[in-house]
Amino acid sequence: MTKSIDVELVNIQKKFGPNVVVDSFNLQIEQGECVSFLGPSGCGKTTTLNMIAGFLEPDQGDLLIKGKRMNGVPSNKRELGMVFQTYSLFPHMTIFENVAYGLKLRKVAKVEITRRVNAILELVKLPHVAERYPKQLSGGQRQRIAIARALVTEPSLLLLDEPLSNLDAKLREELRDELKRLQQEIGITTIFVTHDQEEALYLSNRIVVLDHGKVEQIGTPWDIYNRPASEFVHTFIGKSNRMQGMVEETKGDTLLLRTDAGFTLLADRRDGSFGNGEKVTIYVRPEKIGLNTEEVVMDGINQVKGTVKQTSFLGAYTECEVEVGLYSITVRIQTVQQMIQFSQGQSVYLDWKPEDIFVFTGKGQG
Ligand code: ATP
Repeated sequence: MTKSIDVELVNIQKKFGPNVVVDSFNLQIEQGECVSFLGPSGCGKTTTLNMIAGFLEPDQGDLLIKGKRMNGVPSNKRELGMVFQTYSLFPHMTIFENVAYGLKLRKVAKVEITRRVNAILELVKLPHVAERYPKQLSGGQRQRIAIARALVTEPSLLLLDEPLSNLDAKLREELRDELKRLQQEIGITTIFVTHDQEEALYLSNRIVVLDHGKVEQIGTPWDIYNRPASEFVHTFIGKSNRMQGMVEETKGDTLLLRTDAGFTLLADRRDGSFGNGEKVTIYVRPEKIGLNTEEVVMDGINQVKGTVKQTSFLGAYTECEVEVGLYSITVRIQTVQQMIQFSQGQSVYLDWKPEDIFVFTGKGQG
């Protein structure tokens, strides 16, 4: 059975003065999906969320929630739950009163308020703080309460604007797990704004990558990581080694490339169209490179010799900087796979597979 569409953006555009900050934004979000808006500062994430929330009106296009056109409908009539970067709890109210606030406004009966507030405090695992005031809670606890307050009115849509940004690394991870659990348990359609790619990969069913107000790609985390639609998407998500070169030969589904450092490599062609002699930018991710002390690859294709410049042990993995001609290539080795200790000055061989090479031209094709 196909799921219903909860949110639909049709050709949405927003300008501030002469500047178009959101352009031709089209998106359909299914019931129960968690979709992230991901992109660098200023790309239009918050502006788009604010239009969905009803804080801003689009200059063009239609916004639909559960099939109803929402342009011009005030925010409080859109049945939304919202959580922002800052905690925004009322300091003079207890946690119970904070969470109950939206229900009181809706004139829900007292007994029902108590039942629902207690249930939601259980759900965010903070039933014991009901009588405390916000200042008596930690940052992470306050943000859980903000989430509880957003959910208690049983909204049809949950909007989260960088809700984890003010927390330290450990808490951030904890609350990220918690959000994922809650979102899946309640099955609430969620839009999550973030500039943190790992958070987006972790939490979302689909990610919308934005740059300068334009949608660069909409896809599952797997698609975004493994089939980036542009050089921007590839480099924004995760670390990647960049090399310049040219296409020496197109061979069916593969490309033979020559880097500026002089070595050749074979890459999958994917959907791109490339001409012989065309200048290209070549990427390979640090975790997709093999590192050995001896030659391992057949015919020397996709294997180059280099010298270890530096190693950094980072717990789950080690990063090695390897000098290959004019390039310094980062290689990431999982600690569990690491048989050999690499040391500075050591000669090594790097290898990679054609499917792990991403090739982009000035036209932006991968
Ligand atoms: P951040 O992660 O920094 O919050 P963002 O992707 O959410 O960035 P927006 O806040 O949506 O970006 O801003 C998009 C662009 O619109 C930016 O260039 C910003 O300066 C501009 N902008 C946002 N609000 C206004 C406004 N009220 N008046 C004029 N320009 C604005």
